[in-house]
Amino acid sequence: MNILVLGSGGREHALCWKLAQSAAVTKEGGTLYAAPGNPGIAECAKLVALDAGDHAAVVDFCRERAIGLVVIGPEAPLVDGLADSLRAADVPVFGPSQAAAQLEGSKAFTKRLCERAGIPTARYVEVTSYAEGVAALSTFTAPFVIKADGLAAGKGVTIAEYNDAARHALIDIFGEGEPQPGAKAVIEEFMHGEEASFFALTDGETVVPFGSAQDHKRVGDGDTGPNTGGMGAYSPARVLTEALQAEAMERIVLPTVRQMAEDGMPYSGVLYAGLMLTPDGIKLVEYNARFGDPECQVLMTRLEGDLAEIMLACAEGTLAGLPEPRFSDDTALTVVMAAKGYPGTPEKGGAIDLSQVGGGVTIFHAGTALSDGHLVANGGRVLAVTAAGRDVREARDLAYTAVDAIDFPTGFCRRDIGYREIAREEE
Ligand code: ATP
Repeated sequence: MNILVLGSGGREHALCWKLAQSAAVTKEGGTLYAAPGNPGIAECAKLVALDAGDHAAVVDFCRERAIGLVVIGPEAPLVDGLADSLRAADVPVFGPSQAAAQLEGSKAFTKRLCERAGIPTARYVEVTSYAEGVAALSTFTAPFVIKADGLAAGKGVTIAEYNDAARHALIDIFGEGEPQPGAKAVIEEFMHGEEASFFALTDGETVVPFGSAQDHKRVGDGDTGPNTGGMGAYSPARVLTEALQAEAMERIVLPTVRQMAEDGMPYSGVLYAGLMLTPDGIKLVEYNARFGDPECQVLMTRLEGDLAEIMLACAEGTLAGLPEPRFSDDTALTVVMAAKGYPGTPEKGGAIDLSQVGGGVTIFHAGTALSDGHLVANGGRVLAVTAAGRDVREARDLAYTAVDAIDFPTGFCRRDIGYREIAREEE
């Protein structure tokens, strides 16, 4: 079976790395394509110049190359309805429809769904103007959580200690004067606790758990500095015990998938639940309609079994016929190396030399490019250095040994990935 993966980040490199090991490619002789991919992905897939925004071109390519499975990596093409265009052309696709991707694309949509299905999450008020927002603020106490509706690449959420800052966030969303048509925000109660990511796969009906992870959003050690796309992750997140995972399935994921089906928007693909472990129990922070980056890198490192087979079953509605996906007992940990300046403007063009890196680690590429045959930085997050070990400490030591062997003078990384879990291991 031929497979096409759309995207160009570390997440898509990890997906391609795992898909390249599937029987569809290794035994059946199928070709794995990636569009647009990156130099790392080029080592395990054939790169093609396709624009995910051009649905007709993607559909034509799938027909010409007899693609049996399309995997949509990032959220933007999902929210843009690429999965619908492919399904309409009878191309099996891993990823939700445009309607179902609202679970990520619209905070207000998700909050309303949680309310209808009785899913535990923060109390919220939906507002459509600055004045409504200010009125709503008076019903909450600090810290205030203000979220712009719609995709904002992680930049749509403000957590404000003071009412003034909360009002500024509202001005950023609505402007001060004339209300902006269609602008919407959600103001919600602040939840205290530790965050963890929980993943489930579904074909719209059958739902199976697909591992846990914990990421590191802030740019600096000790969770300081601005938010990023993610500076590192490890899996499993042991803070999500078996019992808590069962609770997340029963109280959050299953009711969501059921409600989506009932509402005529069956959700298929990966459902990524951002959870808060609060003193009052587990609560949903947000949903994403795709794998996290870099959580995907650690999940793929631990996944046993055939990813193409699992994804095809999600695409074709046959997940009930497969055994539940299994993961190794190892812990995987990934350290993101970013270009200096990130998450602001990253320095581009810095040379990267990976030749001194020993075995036992996988380096997933994100913002890399080739310049005269040499690897250079070409984006904010550049590499995800990934290792597996018996525990977080072992995985971390392997990953940082590799990081230290990488010659990337214009790069940097956090030095404390996995610190929470290591503190727990030391207890
Ligand atoms: P991302 O793109 O990073 O996934 P997002 O823009 O979709 O983020 P959320 O995940 O909803 O937004 O919020 C971003 C972060 O803000 C969360 O990971 C969490 O740390 C914090 N946060 C969001 N809502 C709350 C809340 N109600 N209480 C406490 N913290 C919150």
